[in-house]
Amino acid sequence: MANPRRLSILGSTGSIGTSTLDVVRQMGGRDAFEIVSLTGNGNVLLLAEQAKAADAKLAVTASEEHYSALKEALSGSGIAVAAGASGLEEAAARDSDLVMAAIVGTAGLAPTLTAARRGADIALANKECLVTAGALFVDAVKAGGGRLLPVDSEHNAIFQVLEENQRHALERIILTASGGPFRTFTLDEMRHVTAETAARHPNWSMGMKISVGSATMFNKALEMIEAKHLFDVSPEQIEVVVHPQSIIHSMVGYSDGSVLAQLGSPDMRTAIGHALSFPKRARLDVERLDFTRLSRLDFEAPDETRFPALRLARLALTRGGLQSAVMNAAEEVAFKAFVDARIGFLDMARVAEAVMEEMRDAGKARDMNEVFAADAEARARAAEVIEGFSA
Ligand code: NDP
Repeated sequence: MANPRRLSILGSTGSIGTSTLDVVRQMGGRDAFEIVSLTGNGNVLLLAEQAKAADAKLAVTASEEHYSALKEALSGSGIAVAAGASGLEEAAARDSDLVMAAIVGTAGLAPTLTAARRGADIALANKECLVTAGALFVDAVKAGGGRLLPVDSEHNAIFQVLEENQRHALERIILTASGGPFRTFTLDEMRHVTAETAARHPNWSMGMKISVGSATMFNKALEMIEAKHLFDVSPEQIEVVVHPQSIIHSMVGYSDGSVLAQLGSPDMRTAIGHALSFPKRARLDVERLDFTRLSRLDFEAPDETRFPALRLARLALTRGGLQSAVMNAAEEVAFKAFVDARIGFLDMARVAEAVMEEMRDAGKARDMNEVFAADAEARARAAEVIEGFSA
């Protein structure tokens, strides 16, 4: 039997993290994977439980204030414990063959970069790495020598059907979008929705941030930028189509008129399993598509008036440079303000657009310090814009 692959999971307590551990179990558990590091943030008891069950070498909470609780929960287990930014760095730096990048938000960027630089294969769920650092992140993976394996279901779908030896014939990438819970809402109805209803996704079970991002379509906006960097396509080659059933996960169109699609049940474990076993395929217990019961597949054009995030993504792609990082940072701040009921649902895009306008001359980052500086400035400006709303 082959040696187990050494795997670290950044964000193991989240939706992608727990699904990853389930896929690991389905693929053979300790016979297939040796778990090196697991990280979480506030959910310390789950993290400790996961670390013990997987016999991890290191467990890290991103939050210093949860260090002693984690230490106590793991006392006597022999599992090393760390906390904070340095703990996340250690989790990413420890020798593993593969790292699942599943921390939510820009907080995932620094540790994922560390893993990429040391040459680990990166199973990338954290799209913010590419949205924020773009080419710098891709270059870091290339320089490290590891592979970049997309986990986002749309990008994993494209990765599966993109014929690298037919690059010259690639015409377009078609990202599918469910349209989220407010697909049929009027602007007026959207004005009054709460975070709780926004987080109730019709097809997928996901973390809070991405669920609200599906409702605003900011998640799709981030995915357009992610697609540009992952597949080296121009903004004009990236299309979005609303497909409410979430059965076709995305498509690639070629110069002979062919369109290749990847289909499956809306279950992230398929994409996770693909990334974890690439170039082989795992055997997974996920629901199989029954075409005789799929009565229809619908498609419609996205409405950029009700979902301005898509227009903002195009703006960011056209302007280039740090505009994507700025959009992402402002949207993260706006998302938190929406969840805290300090601003309304439609205000999230207003905040992002206002900050993008203020920082439209931000230019291109030469190094990661400039990325982090633009991120911090965009967050500060977003907070001011939000303050202005409620004044
Ligand atoms: P969750 O919110 O479910 O989980 C996020 C993880 O990150 C948890 O482990 C959480 O810890 C940890 N975390 C939260 N804040 C911090 C922080 N400041 N520093 C370090 N760790 C932190 O998110 P998802 O699993 O839904 O999403 C993770 C990533 O994957 C996102 O980038 C998302 O866009 C992407 N993705 C998710 C999909 C999905 O189906 N969920 C689909 C495609 C992409 P704790 O829970 O302990 O607080």
